[in-house]
Amino acid sequence: MKLEELGEFGFIDRLAGQAKARTGVVLGIGDDAAILAPAAGKVTLATSDMLVEGVHFDLALSDPRTLGRKSLAVNLSDLAAMGAQPRHALLSLAIPPALPVEFLDAFTSGFLALADEFQVALVGGDTCASRGGLVISVTALGEQCPGLVVRRSTARVGDLVLVTGTLGDSALGLELLRQGVRSGRSVERHLDPLPRVAAGIRLAEAGLANAMIDVSDGLLADLCHVLDLSGVGARLDLSRLPLSAECRHHLATGGNDPLVLPLAGGEDYELLFTAAPEREAVIRSVLADCGVQVTVIGEIIAGAGVSMTDLAGNPYFPARLGYNHFGITRDAASSRLPEVT
Ligand code: ADP
Ligand code: MG
Repeated sequence: MKLEELGEFGFIDRLAGQAKARTGVVLGIGDDAAILAPAAGKVTLATSDMLVEGVHFDLALSDPRTLGRKSLAVNLSDLAAMGAQPRHALLSLAIPPALPVEFLDAFTSGFLALADEFQVALVGGDTCASRGGLVISVTALGEQCPGLVVRRSTARVGDLVLVTGTLGDSALGLELLRQGVRSGRSVERHLDPLPRVAAGIRLAEAGLANAMIDVSDGLLADLCHVLDLSGVGARLDLSRLPLSAECRHHLATGGNDPLVLPLAGGEDYELLFTAAPEREAVIRSVLADCGVQVTVIGEIIAGAGVSMTDLAGNPYFPARLGYNHFGITRDAASSRLPEVT
């Protein structure tokens, strides 16, 4: 069956039937707007991410169920980066009319499965026809006490720079997918990233992170956002970059500059944060409780920009900083961005 036969309202009715009621939802899908009641003393954090066919995903490389999961996951990662508890989501879709209903069913079942894993309620959205490809826009709402939210702008000189998990796997996964590889850990991490929700909340609620961001554009690009907004610089020791065995193997066997993937690959959806050095032991134990690995990769220094040493301890200058949608490399295009020194 095609969506043309089911119709917009047939599709919305199916979705409404599958969306679960949760605390804080006074009125969900069905009226002109949802009614939400935030918990006492908490502020609401709101974030949106758009996924466009041909820009963010290729229907030939991803299956609809995983695409549904990822479209919510990337939003939950933004909430995690501020230490917020995710609560609600809105899902807006521009759908090519010829798209099979089975595709949409698999997509929404993936979306709702990830929502369930994180106790997120789907409370609304919009559905319209697309004359081009599939466009997915998700808005996620989360909650936190105002004093516990962690921003990008509050890194302090002397802080350690830390990152959860490993870097570069997602970019490697995309490279492998393009070569026809369909499975493996890196491919999985690219298609089905898991947002670090518990880790972000724990770091925020224990007051352990001074500044935090999720790694979506690439480590260097995202670190530069933190540095820029905090008015500080950083020194990174690239021999400490956390790499998976698969990534390490790939770096040892191919590529001109093996550090490009972990530094500029993007879509890792790990948490990059800064913290006072005396908190390191507590951070390790809190994150170990969540089953999350953490690595110190550098420190915050006075000044601006990132200075780096490579695996041999020599100064390192990156070929590119990270992903930019309009094709202009950040270092060349933006005077706001600190220079790489
Ligand atoms: P309106 O025309 O007033 O914007 P719609 O007919 O678009 O209303 O939507 C009706 C209801 O269905 C609303 O509650 C809206 O939030 C919900 N809705 C529409 N599309 C989606 C979607 N893709 N996912 C979740 N809820 C949706
Ligand atoms: Mg509408």
